[in-house]
Amino acid sequence: MHEMALAESVVRLAEETATAEGARRIRSVIVEIGALSCVEPEALTFCFDAVSRGTLAEGAELRIERIDGAAYCWRCERTVPIAARTDPCPECGGYQLQPTAGTEMRVQAIEIE
Ligand SMILES: [Zn+2]
Repeated sequence: MHEMALAESVVRLAEETATAEGARRIRSVIVEIGALSCVEPEALTFCFDAVSRGTLAEGAELRIERIDGAAYCWRCERTVPIAARTDPCPECGGYQLQPTAGTEMRVQAIEIE
């Protein structure tokens, strides 16, 4: 379950930011998760709650924003929307796709107090 490692790096980044700002606690962390990133939002939330215990992020809300996926279809020679890495091209049904958007997972904002 790679969500645990991701949650650890999210909490570490949030704590570093909070410490640098002299914050007492972290209120919420907003992360963007691409539809093609293979990150399960529910698993990430579960892991975040677990690894944030005893840190400045304990009790913080993890807000997840989904980013739609897109891929370049070599057959259609254009970019098409896809919901998962395993999806075929919605135009031609082919699988010659190169993901171009939605593969990322990143911390977008951290709210501290
Ligand atoms: Zn296509």
